[in-house]
Amino acid sequence: MIQKKQLKIISKSSYILGQQCQKAFWLKNNQVPETNPKDEAAEERLSAGDEVGEISKMLFPGGEEIPFLGGKYEEMHDITMEKISSGVEQLYEASFLVDGVFIRVDLMNKTKDGWDIYEVKASSSVKDYHKDDASLQWHILKKIPEIKLHKLKVVVLDNRFEKSSKIIPEDFFKKEDVTEIANEKETEIEQEISNLKITSSQNDEPKIKIGSHCKKPHSCTYLDKCWPENRDKVNSVFTLYRLNMNKKLDLYENGIDTFEKIQDESSFNKIQKKQLQAYRTKKPVIDKKIISEFINKVQYPISYFDFETFSDAVPVFDGQKPHVQIPFQYSLHIQNFAGEKLKIDENHHEFLGHHEQDPRRLIAESMIKNLPSSGTIMAYNDSFEKTCIRLLAEHCPDLAEQLLSFNERFLDLIIPFRGGGYYDLNFKGSFSIKSVLPALCPENKELSYENLEIKEGGSASRTYKNLQFLSEEEIRNKRNNLLRYCRLDTYAMHAIFAKLLAVI
Ligand code: SF4
Repeated sequence: MIQKKQLKIISKSSYILGQQCQKAFWLKNNQVPETNPKDEAAEERLSAGDEVGEISKMLFPGGEEIPFLGGKYEEMHDITMEKISSGVEQLYEASFLVDGVFIRVDLMNKTKDGWDIYEVKASSSVKDYHKDDASLQWHILKKIPEIKLHKLKVVVLDNRFEKSSKIIPEDFFKKEDVTEIANEKETEIEQEISNLKITSSQNDEPKIKIGSHCKKPHSCTYLDKCWPENRDKVNSVFTLYRLNMNKKLDLYENGIDTFEKIQDESSFNKIQKKQLQAYRTKKPVIDKKIISEFINKVQYPISYFDFETFSDAVPVFDGQKPHVQIPFQYSLHIQNFAGEKLKIDENHHEFLGHHEQDPRRLIAESMIKNLPSSGTIMAYNDSFEKTCIRLLAEHCPDLAEQLLSFNERFLDLIIPFRGGGYYDLNFKGSFSIKSVLPALCPENKELSYENLEIKEGGSASRTYKNLQFLSEEEIRNKRNNLLRYCRLDTYAMHAIFAKLLAVI
């Protein structure tokens, strides 16, 4: 006889996971080890959420917090109900267990019309899954007769807020009323909870096909378990440049998982066809006209330029806004004439802020000092650099004219690649500098990110923000790593441009 499994409590996070995928919910529920655990970036977002959560309590000061007691759901529920019946009017992390579903409500505030419920998010806009999250809470609270509900709101960060000496909660947050949405979702939520209860009682994992849901709203922590092993290989249909995910999945479902199995190329775009051609011929597909058009726009001296930035959910410096990028580092290589071959330390300038200070004015002054007054400023995906410069100009109005004049001289090195001038099969459908550089300069160890401790921008940003927790010696090491990483970004651009010149 098959033994029926004991139902586990459904928490808010497992409900959200179950909405994304019943299989992921089942795997998590059965403690199947994750194949793609949360990365550092996700952990950083979680800790930003905690920080924002703490500040949000100041919206309703003097409230009482319900402690988290591990798996003692009923005890937490009872403590919360006692507080409510004893007349407490502001609660933080109020906890409820109803019909096998456990929720913790960020903020509850009693008004003359009933309780207002607040779900706090460290984001600058209200997303659909935030509304789902809040709606579940509303639905569960509606089942408790002692609680008269009034309004349900999602609280997010107001991106117009600019810090001035301290965080003022009323200005820092904005609230969106989602009461009506939650009421409309009632039947849907009840159905979802019942589906999850059925799923959690099953002995076998549900059969769910992979799909776009695997990466939205969050990247699933079981991707390697479900997705094909060859999905990152040079001939995988999943690497087809900018092909809509549903089309990739259609191909895959029809047994067409590699380029070799593609019979009809007619529906693919220009770059995708070049990608297939590069794979077939094992040679780069080159359009010299497109490359020449790009090269003809270049004016010497070329300033190869790159920023590293950080952002904070909770602003640290005066004049800082939530989640707005703050440049803390740049690297600049200057090539004075065509054919000048630079060594990595040659004609090089750099800036790296001090982690305890607002870096914006100092970095702006350093750029004005070091960037040549004429010639092309070359960046990779230059819209990012140009946006950062606009923000620096806003922050330093006295330097705005000089800073903004830089933006008129930018030329984006990604253009000849994105435009179809050069496709190498090892790009694997991506024109990011991290894909293009090793494909174009595979032999040169000096041009490899692999040997660096910091290999990508997100890691640079986290390293800089974490300097405050390190010893002086560790700080020195990490700063060196940051300098090496950013310097390679601009030296890589010099090498890529040299390669384009050599091609024509
Ligand atoms: S990878 Fe996709 S199908 Fe597999 S568990 Fe995750 S979301 Fe579900």
